[in-house]
Amino acid sequence: MVLARPADKSTMIRSFLKHLPSALIFLAASLYTTPAEKLTLLESVRQNNRLVVVTRSAASTYYRDATGPAGPEFDLARRFAERLDVDLKIIVASDLKQIFSLLARGEAHFAAAGLTQTADRYRWLRFTPPYQYVVQQLVYRQGTHRPRNISDLGDGKLLVVAGSSHIERLRQLQKSHPRLTWEESLKFGSNELLKKVETGEIDYTVVDSNELRLTHRFYPHVRVAFDISEFQPISWAFPVEGDDSLYQEAVGFFVDIYNNGILEQILERYYGHIGEFDYVATTTFITHIRQRLPRYRHLFERAAKEFDIDWRLLAAVSYQESHWNPKAVSPTGVRGIMMLTRITAKQLGIRKRTNPEQSIHGGARYLSHLKQRLPTEISGPDRNWFALAAYNIGYGHLMDAREITRKTGGNPNLWMDVKKKLPLLRDKKWYRKTVYGYARGDEAAFYVENIRNYYQILQKETGSILGMATGVE
Ligand code: GLU
Repeated sequence: MVLARPADKSTMIRSFLKHLPSALIFLAASLYTTPAEKLTLLESVRQNNRLVVVTRSAASTYYRDATGPAGPEFDLARRFAERLDVDLKIIVASDLKQIFSLLARGEAHFAAAGLTQTADRYRWLRFTPPYQYVVQQLVYRQGTHRPRNISDLGDGKLLVVAGSSHIERLRQLQKSHPRLTWEESLKFGSNELLKKVETGEIDYTVVDSNELRLTHRFYPHVRVAFDISEFQPISWAFPVEGDDSLYQEAVGFFVDIYNNGILEQILERYYGHIGEFDYVATTTFITHIRQRLPRYRHLFERAAKEFDIDWRLLAAVSYQESHWNPKAVSPTGVRGIMMLTRITAKQLGIRKRTNPEQSIHGGARYLSHLKQRLPTEISGPDRNWFALAAYNIGYGHLMDAREITRKTGGNPNLWMDVKKKLPLLRDKKWYRKTVYGYARGDEAAFYVENIRNYYQILQKETGSILGMATGVE
């Protein structure tokens, strides 16, 4: 049992938290001080054309990928700034403590940082309506002792993010389990702690279920031992004192995006393609990234450049098709590293489908052609997903699925809506009314979601997700 807690860090946090309420009351020279002409905070944000939001770096909040800043909190904050018609300034805090002190000093208008609403925090923060619910999960490394409950951690080292909701929960549990001890880390975020469990550097940590869901693919040996909390709400946090005009506007924003489907769209973008974690498939994929991909990477890069596609997306398609095996053949006669049909290959002028260079070039050309052919109303990353569905099932069938989506009250330009209707192409009641008839739409939906998953792992593994930067954007 680890008995010693680093007194310096946890004491620091505790004393910090203790003084926070008064710090918030005396917001000095901050974004929250209203100018002489007595503008409300909301008015002054508009007048200064600047919304300052503090976040933290994590898959469930904010990170940068090949296309720039991303993450659910970033998308939400961007939408909110658009609603106010002001510029958005993002501060990426290095840890939770910095988030709270920026709020306390009035240097950020609010935190969009995957913060959990907790009893302690209600004393000095006010929260918008939640956009997600999570449970706290205690994780360990596969192949080591799996604790059954909180009194079964043995001598294992439990390291948790300092200042987090996890610590608040552990403190509650400690009341009935006095032998429970842990260490608090100021330096490492949940992502790094998961990595430490993966590599065996520490025995346990606690993570929010949404974070684990998004990152489990990167840490395949991490296992959930048990949940340590009920579902808890995640939302934006504002200082509790002072003018609440901006806060009220944010409340209205969440009510609106909940009702108009934008919230669902944002969550779908990040969580929609992630099914149950598949250990074997994930570890095999990561092995193949190391062992097989290097042989073909330059071919993907070259073709991707020519057709203006991210090479990782092309590589992800190819992995889904053939597991990067140029000799792959399917029972239906599709062949090669991009699994082109004989007809498609002929149209693309490919002589030898099993030649990886020809196959990749042809696949890239075909994908980019499909992407260009899509209606202009389909925008953003959804254009990729629609093009992939067409690559798998054929353009005509995809248009049929869009038509079904429209007829049943969905939005035919959103992948989130169309993917739910694709399976209906198998259903006679539906396909007899379509132009192109029967198709295995469920497989197409599954195909696209798999590729999205591979694509994200590839981005992470090849270093194009730069999640760890902190500072001002
Ligand atoms: N939701 C957690 C909190 O509010 C986040 C902790 C973390 O993973 O950093 O404290």
